Amino acid sequence: MDQIYNFSAGPAVLPKEVLQQARDEMLDWHGSGMSVMEMSHRGKEFMSIAEKTENDLRELANIPRNYKVLFLQGGASSQFSMVPMNLLRGKTTADYINTGQWSAKAIEEANRYCTVNVAASSENAHFTYIPPLEQWRLNPDAAYVHYTSNETIGGVEFHWVPETDVPLVVDMSSDILSRPLDVTRYGLIYAGAQKNLGPAGLTLVIVREDLLGQPLPGTPTLYDYQIHAKNDSMYNTPPTYAMYITGLVFAWLKKQGGLAAMEKINIAKAKLLYDLLNSTDFYHCPVAIADRSLMNVPFTLKDSALDGEFLKQAQHNGLLQLKGHRSVGGMRASIYNAMPVEGVATLAAFMKEFASRHA
Ligand code: PMP
Repeated sequence: MDQIYNFSAGPAVLPKEVLQQARDEMLDWHGSGMSVMEMSHRGKEFMSIAEKTENDLRELANIPRNYKVLFLQGGASSQFSMVPMNLLRGKTTADYINTGQWSAKAIEEANRYCTVNVAASSENAHFTYIPPLEQWRLNPDAAYVHYTSNETIGGVEFHWVPETDVPLVVDMSSDILSRPLDVTRYGLIYAGAQKNLGPAGLTLVIVREDLLGQPLPGTPTLYDYQIHAKNDSMYNTPPTYAMYITGLVFAWLKKQGGLAAMEKINIAKAKLLYDLLNSTDFYHCPVAIADRSLMNVPFTLKDSALDGEFLKQAQHNGLLQLKGHRSVGGMRASIYNAMPVEGVATLAAFMKEFASRHA
């Protein structure tokens, strides 16, 4: 097949240029005689990679100096417990917004450490919209407010940043760096790398310094942000190769023109699919129009008996990994930063043609 487009929700497509550069540098990084995989994390070669990776991220997302950038392991799921362990700071309750399966997982885990107040939920409508801020019942005693900016499975995304009196915490796993980001609005941002940043194995945390240093008694050392912050993410071995690839992705993003440029492209890509979905009743997208994700586009076929044929034909046309999450069925096209416009255009053309053939 000439060209493959991978619509996986994560681990997901990476920029081809990044993979090519990694290939070229695989056996001998910059004349060091070593692969990045073989380097000591404390050696000067890897230290220079780590430093550039952090600096490029700081530049891309305009991260102020009073925010620490942490390169951790454990996946975004580890943050579901690390956040309450570190950010309760003597309080006993936290506010959570429930917009889908990932927020629900964060809530379930936080319940182990504090009283969770679900301040707003869209469960009554199968998580197909974002509850407007006016409806949130925030608790003034909450240690923080947690939300999920993009629900990877449901395909609902916040297109606004909530205004809160207490620190705002966001799971940005599936839309980080897909658009400009005002870090100062947040107490803490976290993301697993394997969607919009790089390979699995790296978990990124951006946290305001003054929130650190008051972990719950009994917090394991590796779950204490302060330990990682004080040691520049080198208390123990960080996920070095994943950091290196992520660093290449950051450099690639800078070359594309940064986050404002990515947002424009991402809007244009998503529009290709949503315009098509809106123009036909052959397909259906369950998500409220204002809250549709630019990263994960879920849709169903009117006749689900055609699902298998759709996926088979798509695969035949080089369009891979379109099957929806096992919990919801249907289809899902994940179109992160690294998915080229041509990939989405090819998918839209295929969908149109499939619909006309089976109408
Ligand atoms: N949050 C969101 C929004 C996600 O999409 C995912 C992964 N699909 C997770 C958390 C969990 O991430 P991990 O598998 O890295 O623990």
